[in-house]
Amino acid sequence: MAGKKITEKHIDACISDLHELAHNIWWAWNPAAQEIFHELSPFFWEHSFHNPVEVLNWISGQELRGRLEDKDFFLRVSSICKEFQSYLTRRDTWAARHASSLKKRPVAYFSAEFGLHECLHIYSGGLGILAGDHTKSASDLGIPFVGVSLFYRHGYFQQQISTDGRQQERYPDYDPAKLPLSLVKDKKGNPVIASVEIAQAVVRFRAWLVKVGRVQIYLLDTNLPENEQRFRDLTAHVYGGDQSNRIGQEILLGIGGLRMLRAIGISPSVFHMNEGHAAFLTLELLREQLAAGKQLNKAMEIVKSECVFTTHTPVPAGHDRFDRGLMEGNLGKFIQSMNLPTDEVLGLGRIDPNNSQEAFTMTVLALRFSRSANGVSELHGKVSRNMWKDLYPSLSEAEVPIGHVTNGIHTTGWASPIAMDFWTKHLGHRWTTKLQDKKFWEKAVESKAISDRELWGMRNRLRRRLIEFARRRLREQHLRHAGFDPGIFESVLRPDVLTIGFARRFATYKRAPLLFRDFEWALKTLSNAAMPVQIIFAGKAHPRDEAGKDFIQEIINHSKDPRLFGRVVFIENYDIEVARYLISGADIWLNTPRRPMEASGTSGEKIAIHGGIHFSTMDGWWREAYDGRNGWKIGEDITAGNESVQDDLDAASLRALLESKIIPLFYDRGRDNIPHNWLKIVRHAISSIVPVYNTDRMVAEYVTKYYLPQKGKARK
Ligand SMILES: *Cc1c(COP(=O)(O)O)cnc(C)c1O
Repeated sequence: MAGKKITEKHIDACISDLHELAHNIWWAWNPAAQEIFHELSPFFWEHSFHNPVEVLNWISGQELRGRLEDKDFFLRVSSICKEFQSYLTRRDTWAARHASSLKKRPVAYFSAEFGLHECLHIYSGGLGILAGDHTKSASDLGIPFVGVSLFYRHGYFQQQISTDGRQQERYPDYDPAKLPLSLVKDKKGNPVIASVEIAQAVVRFRAWLVKVGRVQIYLLDTNLPENEQRFRDLTAHVYGGDQSNRIGQEILLGIGGLRMLRAIGISPSVFHMNEGHAAFLTLELLREQLAAGKQLNKAMEIVKSECVFTTHTPVPAGHDRFDRGLMEGNLGKFIQSMNLPTDEVLGLGRIDPNNSQEAFTMTVLALRFSRSANGVSELHGKVSRNMWKDLYPSLSEAEVPIGHVTNGIHTTGWASPIAMDFWTKHLGHRWTTKLQDKKFWEKAVESKAISDRELWGMRNRLRRRLIEFARRRLREQHLRHAGFDPGIFESVLRPDVLTIGFARRFATYKRAPLLFRDFEWALKTLSNAAMPVQIIFAGKAHPRDEAGKDFIQEIINHSKDPRLFGRVVFIENYDIEVARYLISGADIWLNTPRRPMEASGTSGEKIAIHGGIHFSTMDGWWREAYDGRNGWKIGEDITAGNESVQDDLDAASLRALLESKIIPLFYDRGRDNIPHNWLKIVRHAISSIVPVYNTDRMVAEYVTKYYLPQKGKARK
């Protein structure tokens, strides 16, 4: 191509390739592909949550042709499209070697949310991010895989903070035609429509396809004119509305999801329920078996042999429970179609099937009908075995068949372009294929491979990028409130100061204000002129969680305190984009869940590849990863006394470590102004965390332990 003239035909083909590229969010983990769309229109890129489909919508055909007549640009676009095609068609994948039996019949993964990219507002927090990362790794590993979820046209809310520090929720309208989605159609080109019984109605729905590299996710959508308004609104919000909306969403996800797969002609070999929301799926599988003439016991056995279940919730109150009225009111019509007595069906969601007083619990249904089940960290597995032991009266607690697979992250999706370039420069292009190779990472961080100067250079770049992003966001927020730019945001935060990041959902058990439990101490420590510290917060509280909103307000108040101004900041509207800046720029990632309430947590896993250090209570993944040399632990590996005792102990431990170890180490500089001892921890954090806490390892573990046909009995 290099020497040849670019013809009209070449340009036509290139435009069609660009549209195909825009509609496959493979670009979400390929920065060079994003750069193409960014370059096409920096303005629309910035103002569309980085959505390539919007960029292409806004550029006229004529302009696009003109831009592609620029030979350099044309060649870059062509080369990205070629790389994309070769990714899609690669045959020598991990799955080709380790999971070829899944080839004919894929894994179907049901999840109420998927966090794939900031332009697709179909997630609320960690559960969705995990599902998104799981899907991307399934694609990278070449696993035949389809996801099922809902298309939420108002998404989860967009957060703004009012002048008095209160969280406000906005619900924009997201038009599927402007997103990287396509309507699922049959061979004749008509939309595929399926239906499901909810309450007394037959609710019809369509599906939007999201292509994620080599795999697909189907998003169900009831917003069709033929449905009653309340059913059109069923899929309006992520976890929106009351209990009856919630059960409706779960009926759609589980029962509707399976019907949509059948309507499309997909016949999975295993169904993975990511959290209990999807568990009604098992009732539809059961109905199918009964309708085909199977006896109940046999039918139950078959369903159980096809399903696996992951629980994510270490507190009993977090599990969906529906009372009899709600079940009969919403699921009654469906239960009739099963041809089983109502009580028999309701009993499937009870620990004691005969206890009609017991609420229907989605987790119980899922456990009853899965051949294997797991929690998402070692500790969470243990907590779950204890929580559900009554379901297995003949087994000891240790024998309860709930194992664990510790959560990971999709490393190349989270690595910032600066980190990607850094590792590529030092390790060569193939480092992205070595994400599970511990030896490789041990060598990679040796000082003969990478000098302290280079490593520190990356840290300095990433920290500055975060700080400038924070300043930009704070200025925008101020402009909205006050209508003018006071010119002070250039001096908020400093690029050479120890920077702590804290960003996650503002659920109260995560204890965002723990650092301020002794306010005088916080004041003294953060404003110490010789060794200053700054902290950047972000996070959303659930719209109905007033205590979580109080926490946000408390942080906002600290950030406005003149003695702390510019050292404590809160960035609005935590989402995947904000997360990307924070996890790459922070020197320390602070994680303070009240043990053992964080099933795993994953945000701290995203920092290692950027040279950040984790500082956390001994909960979730960190309890397994912490080895005394790769970060710091807050408190001990025990759950102490009541909540307030535990909070006091953890806060004291947090203060002591910051004061005696972390801050002095950061400012302990050589003559070259580099913190050599700090970087020792960074190096060890990289080599001990990167090759383990990633979704390539996690998905491979799901495949070998859970997805592949299992011989013999159900196992942990
Ligand atoms: C990684 C991530 C999460 C999950 O992080 P936790 O540590 O589990 O709280 C939630 N939201 C966003 C936007 C993320 O990027």
